[in-house]
Amino acid sequence: MCKNAYTPSDFAALYASFDAPISAINCGERCAPHNEGGAPFCCDLRHAVPTAYQAEWEYLEQHTDLWHLWQDRSSGKSSSLAEQAPEGQVLIACRGHRACQRKFRSLTCRAFPFFPYITVSGEFVGLSYYWEYQDRCWVISNLHLVDATYRTQFVTVYDALFERMPEEREVFRYFSSQMRRLFSRKHRAIPLLHRNGGYYRITPRNGRQRRIDPAKLPKFGDYQIAAEMPFSDEILSSVSPEQH
Ligand code: SF4
Ligand code: SF4
Repeated sequence: MCKNAYTPSDFAALYASFDAPISAINCGERCAPHNEGGAPFCCDLRHAVPTAYQAEWEYLEQHTDLWHLWQDRSSGKSSSLAEQAPEGQVLIACRGHRACQRKFRSLTCRAFPFFPYITVSGEFVGLSYYWEYQDRCWVISNLHLVDATYRTQFVTVYDALFERMPEEREVFRYFSSQMRRLFSRKHRAIPLLHRNGGYYRITPRNGRQRRIDPAKLPKFGDYQIAAEMPFSDEILSSVSPEQH
């Protein structure tokens, strides 16, 4: 690990600098009604297990009882999932969406559903999303509603993180290349929330970026069906999850 890597005490300031809501609309209220059990998908271990950097975990462990190390009680699955934790990170689990402490959300909670998109030439140009959640995550179907301050904070935090932990840039560079490969096979353009504030489609084959109207980006799953209905207001959960 890089000698400039974060220490546990750095995470108070890092979290404070990445605290803007992802949208003016509480997205957890939008997706939770579509999940059996009523939890937002990204707060439900059946759908996503958060990770934390080792120093981040130490900070959380010292300051809150919200988190514990993830353990799978179902036999056999534990080791294979734990082995997938990226180097220098641990899998963690919180006490659930009803007990969320916004101030102590992990970096992965704050970033979800986005990751820093890195071009072939290694440039961090903006945010794209974890495509495997496109049918569940309301934000992915409503990219035009992502808050500008959230986007700016995301970019600032990852600029600083890549400066101090250059190996993380390589992790996301590899992940971005995987997305290009997959989307190219599917003849899909990669959506990008550019760091300049605009919305773009990237042609995965050649990296060409075209500016687009974000309201015209596709919707997926239940959100696509709801948008096509004459009265598309969605039912909100009776339990209001923490603002994401
Ligand atoms: S980020 Fe997506 S999955 Fe998470 S609460 Fe918001 S809409 Fe739901
Ligand atoms: S946002 Fe809150 S409830 Fe959801 S996974 Fe993170 S800490 Fe847990």
